[in-house]
Amino acid sequence: MTDFSKHKFGTKAIHAGAEADPTTGAIMTPIYQTSTYVQESPGKNKGYGYARGKNPTREALQKNIAALENGKHCICFASGMGATDAVIKLLRPGDEVITGDDLYGGSYRMFTKIFENYGIKFHFINLSNAENISKYVNKNTKLIWAETPTNPTMQIIDIEACSKIAKANNILLAVDNTFASPYLQNPLALGADIVMHSVTKYLGGHSDVVMGALVMNDDKLHEQLYFILNSCGANPGPMDCFLVMRGIKTLHLRMERHCFNGKKIAEYLKTHPKIEKIYWPGFTDHPNHAIAKKQMRDFGGMISIVLKGADQNKTFKIASSFKVFSLAESLGGVESLINHPATMTHASIPKAERDKAGVVDNLLRLSVGVEDVEDLIEDLKQALA
Ligand SMILES: *Cc1c(COP(=O)(O)O)cnc(C)c1O
Repeated sequence: MTDFSKHKFGTKAIHAGAEADPTTGAIMTPIYQTSTYVQESPGKNKGYGYARGKNPTREALQKNIAALENGKHCICFASGMGATDAVIKLLRPGDEVITGDDLYGGSYRMFTKIFENYGIKFHFINLSNAENISKYVNKNTKLIWAETPTNPTMQIIDIEACSKIAKANNILLAVDNTFASPYLQNPLALGADIVMHSVTKYLGGHSDVVMGALVMNDDKLHEQLYFILNSCGANPGPMDCFLVMRGIKTLHLRMERHCFNGKKIAEYLKTHPKIEKIYWPGFTDHPNHAIAKKQMRDFGGMISIVLKGADQNKTFKIASSFKVFSLAESLGGVESLINHPATMTHASIPKAERDKAGVVDNLLRLSVGVEDVEDLIEDLKQALA
C-alpha cells in the first residue's frame, strides 16, 4: 500500500486508508456489516474478534482521518459527544479541566450535567486570551479543552499558546476542530495532544451521518482511549464509516467552496443595514484575525450575525423566511443552514451564561453551503427584507 503521508491534502483525502479489497480488487472499501468474526481455534483469528473493538471499514476511515490531521492514530466514535466523553473519561474525581466560555452547547451540557457529578471540576473561561489560563492552573489541572473557532461567536483561540502552557504544566491539550475541519487547521502540528471532530459536520459533509473522531500521536494515549472505546462501546457502525469515507473524498473541494461562499456572504452582510454585528474571522477587524491567519489555511463558511433591534419574535420570523437556507441544527453539510443558537444548539446553556458569551436572542448562525453564492445572497436579501 502506498504511504500517502507525504502527499498533499486532496490526494490524501481521496486515497489515504482506501486500499483495494484484497479478495476482489473492489476499489471502494467494503462495508463489513458483521458483529463477529469466525475463529480457527479459540483465540486464533485474523486480527478481528468482535466488532465493537475492530471493524475493517472503520479502520480504513480511521487511517484516512489520521492522515488528514497528520496524526499517527485515529479512533472513530458513534458521535462527536461519544468522542468527547471518552476524553473526559481519562480523568479521575478531583481532576480539573480548563475550557472555553463559548462552547458547543452539548459539550457544556456533558461537562456540567454529567461529569461534574463524578467529581470533575470545569473552569469555563475566555481562552481567546491564553494568559487567562495560567490563573486557573493548579496541581489538579489535567486537561485544557479548547474549541476554535468557537461556536457561535467565532472567537479564535491560539492553539500554540495554549499548548505552551499545557506542556509547561504537564496538562493534556485537546482541541475540538469541528468548525475548521482538517482542511483549515491541524491542531497536532500546533502542539495539541488530541484533536476531536464531530465527523457529523464537515468531514461527513452531507448531513446523513452522526459520528465523532479523535486523532493523536502518542501511542500510550491512543491505547488508553481505545481501551475506553472498547470498554464503553460508543463505536460507529460500518455503513456510517463507508458514508464518511465517501464524503471525505470531496472534503478539499467542498471546503474551498465553503470558504469562497463564506467570504462573499460575510462581505455582503457586513454593510447590510439590518445587521448590528457580524462574527467571521476573515475580517481584518475581527479581534483574533491575526491568529486565525496564522493557524488556519482560510476562514471557513461559518458566520454569525446579530440582527439590529430585533426581539425574539422578529428574529424567529426572519429565521423562518428563508427559501434556500434551511432552518436546522448542525452545520458543515453541502446545503446552507440557518440556526438560532439561543433556542436550538445552545438551549441547554442558561440564558445569563448565553448573554455573557454573546449568544443573544437576536443572534443567528449561518452554515454557508456549497450552492451558487448568488442564490444564497438573494435568499438573505429577501429574508432580511
Ligand atoms: C456538533 C458538534 C459537536 C458534537 O458532535 P455530535 O456529532 O453532534 O455528537 C461537538 N463540537 C462541535 C463544535 C459541534 O459542532
